[in-house]
This record gives sequence, C-alpha cells and structure tokens, in this order.
Amino acid sequence: MAGDRGIARAALSAIADLVVPELCGGCGRPGTAWCEGCARRLSDVPRLLSPRIDPGVPVWALARYGGPMASAVVNLKEHRRRDLAPVLGRLLADGLVAIARWGDLPQTSRLALVPAPTRALAARARGGDTVTAVAGEAAVVLGPGVRVTPMLVTAAWVRDSAGLTAGARNTNLTGAVRLNRPLPAAMRGRGETAVPAVLVDDVLTTGATATHAVRRLRSAGARVAAVVVLAGA
Ligand SMILES: [Zn+2]
Repeated sequence: MAGDRGIARAALSAIADLVVPELCGGCGRPGTAWCEGCARRLSDVPRLLSPRIDPGVPVWALARYGGPMASAVVNLKEHRRRDLAPVLGRLLADGLVAIARWGDLPQTSRLALVPAPTRALAARARGGDTVTAVAGEAAVVLGPGVRVTPMLVTAAWVRDSAGLTAGARNTNLTGAVRLNRPLPAAMRGRGETAVPAVLVDDVLTTGATATHAVRRLRSAGARVAAVVVLAGA
C-alpha cells in the first residue's frame, strides 16, 4: 500500500509539474525555484554604492543589477513568484549580518526594516508589496528583535519614475514621501536605546527614493543606520 501511495504521490507531483512548471527564478533553469548556480553567484558580499542623489547614510546593494538578482526581482514583482521571497529574504538577512560585522549597523538583533515607499496602486496591482514580503522573510531569519515596519507611502500625484532623469525623479518625490502611521516609540530618539532603522528597497537607480525616504524618517525622529537594496544599478 505504501508503494501505491508513493506512486500516487509521484503521479500527483508529475501533474503539478505539468500545471506549474518549476523554473529557477534567477536563470529559468527548470526543476527548481532557485538553482545552485544562482545561489553561488549571489553568495557574494554586499557592495557599498555611491548613488547620484546621496541619502546621507551608507547605501548597500546585495548584488549588481543584472544576472540572477535582476531576474529574481522581476519574477517576484511582475510575475508574482512569491516562492522567491524566502530566497531573497535569506540573502537580505545574510547581507545585513555582513554589514553589521563591518560596523555599518550596530547589530542585527534589534532592527526596524522599513520598506521603501511604493505607490499604493502599483503595489495593489502586484498583489502586495514585494519588498515588505522579502523584509518579512529576512526578519524571520534574524529573530524576534527585528521587525518590519511599513510606514512610508508616496502621495497619489507622484508619477512612475521609469524613464525620468535623476533631477526629474528628485523633483517628482519632493514632499511626496509620507508616514501613514506615527513612528513607533521604540524607534524614536538619537541615543543607543532607539531601535535603528534600515530602509529596504528592491532596486536603487538614482537614489532619489532612498534620499526622500531617509529624510522623512529622520524628520519623524528615527535613527536611520543604512539603506540596503537587493540590486544596485
Ligand atoms: Zn538559476
């Protein structure tokens, strides 16, 4: 009987493969959601970026925009590959640990991961904000002292930044990033007691979004330690 069940299970799994072919989210190789080759290529260390518009805190990228990371971000965001959120969340957690080891974060046991602002409509169209999902997976890896704190939104009048120059992006976002809730008390204050904030985004191009987001968090009293993005242009 056990053998029959095994065969039945194998048949069901074969049918599932036919219905939803499992493809690597990084390179498209069939048979796995995230292949060993892509895992190896992204076990790289985070890189410090120098964005054209400087947010005034260190900006780190887990990978260059290109190769498996770019594919994974597009697959998660545009093709709703939610199975890639844990993969990217683990990479984000590993990256944060490395950055802390180098001294740009005080620790990784107490952090507020703040997803970069999205336009509400764009996020809804994608079935939820993917950066928040990835940050959530990283928080699970890092432990109970790490919280994801979504609180940044952009005003409805903000245009999609695709195709805009750095200057136009900056103008587009001026005064547009807002808090949709009060800053949690644990994040307030300049001293060591305040939980440091890390702004998290998927892709960084000019740095305009990160800069306006960091400014807004600081003016609300947050201690922003760094910006970490999955891929830096
Ligand atoms: Zn792959």
